[in-house]
Amino acid sequence: MKKLDSMQALYVDQLRDLRSAEAQLVDALPKAAKGAASPDLKAAIQEHLGVTREQLARVDALLEGLAEGRRRATCKGMAGLIKEANETLEADGDPQVRDAGLIAAAQRIEHYEIAGYGCAAAYAELLGDQAAATELRVSLKEEREADTVLNVLAQKVVNPAAAEGEAEPAEEDEAEDEGGKPPNARGRRSARQAKRRGRADARVE
Ligand code: FE
Ligand code: FE
Ligand code: ZN
Repeated sequence: MKKLDSMQALYVDQLRDLRSAEAQLVDALPKAAKGAASPDLKAAIQEHLGVTREQLARVDALLEGLAEGRRRATCKGMAGLIKEANETLEADGDPQVRDAGLIAAAQRIEHYEIAGYGCAAAYAELLGDQAAATELRVSLKEEREADTVLNVLAQKVVNPAAAEGEAEPAEEDEAEDEGGKPPNARGRRSARQAKRRGRADARVE
């Protein structure tokens, strides 16, 4: 059983968990990049693989200098999140919908890491190790950036492509307040409406 009798012990415990999480991701991300259909999503995952390798090295360096730091732990949270991501990767169906699901899984992963680095950085600071806190906040910032990249990719590219043809019809008066929409929003919707009409016609026949 774990022994957590001091904040120092909890800090090391959190770092070991993060180390395991990053190591599992280094192993899992190549498969995710390979499975992504969207070139943008593929590139984002590849990019984060490089960042993840650096994060693993960073947390390793912090653990090196700590008592109990070399003892290995397994992050079961990340193991579960990766398992879910793999279920999405292996699913049958529409590759664009699968991409949307892959982003949902990846964002869960980023949020898990954001929580881990946020806590670890706070503990480092509390324990007076400013240098470690600064290092951990570098990784924290990278995870937040990865989450933002995924968010933009989902909202602007992957989710709209996946929803093509199945979104609800637009309200009649909605056309009046379209000022902030991307330039192709209207054309895309017309295309969807045309596709829907096509489907309706097919049903009539
Ligand atoms: Fe990471
Ligand atoms: Fe964990
Ligand atoms: Zn990450």
